[in-house]
Amino acid sequence: MNLTNRSVAVDRSPMTFSEKIYIPGILKGLKITLSHIFKKPATVRYPEETRPFSPVFRGLHVLNRDEEGREKCTACGLCALACPAEAITMEAAERLPGEEHLYREEKYAAKYEINMLRCIFCGNCEEACPKDAIYLSETVMPANYRRDYFVYKKEDMLITDEQVKAKRLKLQKA
Ligand code: SF4
Ligand code: SF4
Repeated sequence: MNLTNRSVAVDRSPMTFSEKIYIPGILKGLKITLSHIFKKPATVRYPEETRPFSPVFRGLHVLNRDEEGREKCTACGLCALACPAEAITMEAAERLPGEEHLYREEKYAAKYEINMLRCIFCGNCEEACPKDAIYLSETVMPANYRRDYFVYKKEDMLITDEQVKAKRLKLQKA
């Protein structure tokens, strides 16, 4: 029984003379190629060019800091629990005296990693975070040939001063 109405029976009849010499088939293929030369290309020259993304596009993760530059993450683990891809791992540590300017809460993530090869960019980690410590940015994941490159560490994701400024500007305009 056919599952769809799109199945086509394989034609096993002997090849005709024109099929045996291949030239009509080659010309047919060339005609299709030539017809596309004058059309607007459907592709872009990524990464030099990018398409406009949807307003709800979710890209690379950013770990947030507060207004004083202190890390917001308290290593509570809720983001890892909410992650359907089990892409997040972390190790918590106690803040030591004198580190108040680095970490906002008494507990912080000494290690925080996201395996971007597992991540499906669903945004659940952002939704689950009670501290506004993680969000998905508009940056597209860069390609690479090495798998270990895709395990992003805390240092790779912590928000930079420029990103803080850009975020503030965006919030002011909104
Ligand atoms: S975006 Fe989704 S899949 Fe990716 S780390 Fe966050 S919760 Fe996991
Ligand atoms: S990012 Fe948010 S949810 Fe995840 S461990 Fe840090 S504070 Fe908790």
